[in-house]
Amino acid sequence: MLAMRYFFGPKATLNYPSEKGPLSPRFRGEHVLRRYPNGEERCIACKLCEAVCPACAITIESEERADGTRRTTRYDIDLFKCIYCGFCEESCPVDSIVETRIFEFHFENRGEHVITKEQLLAVGDKYEKQLAADRAADAKYR
Ligand code: SF4
Ligand code: SF4
Repeated sequence: MLAMRYFFGPKATLNYPSEKGPLSPRFRGEHVLRRYPNGEERCIACKLCEAVCPACAITIESEERADGTRRTTRYDIDLFKCIYCGFCEESCPVDSIVETRIFEFHFENRGEHVITKEQLLAVGDKYEKQLAADRAADAKYR
């Protein structure tokens, strides 16, 4: 019966990359850092993500700003070390570091596997609409 379905049933294969399968709102792809709607960085440099990362892939440095708040001066993720476990986003108290649906990325030059705070924020800005929708969809199951 299974063999019949295999030969005569609907195709299970996709013509990737022109066809792509569905992705969960919890998909763990490339990382980003998010901002609040007013443009302020969410990250408060608590370093929970750095502490929880089992691969020691995150490096954070921080300083106090003139208004007494704390922000990162450096936030690097080494994507060669990362195992995409999602612990960093689970640990973040302000929904700052999140993993996106982006899984098609590559590096062409030495050193590009370490993504910086500026890069993380830039990609976060670009995909914020999708990220907010995914977080809202996921919240229903928590
Ligand atoms: S996904 Fe896991 S391994 Fe990768 S940076 Fe986050 S905590 Fe570290
Ligand atoms: S990304 Fe989140 S968990 Fe990591 S330092 Fe910033 S606020 Fe803390």
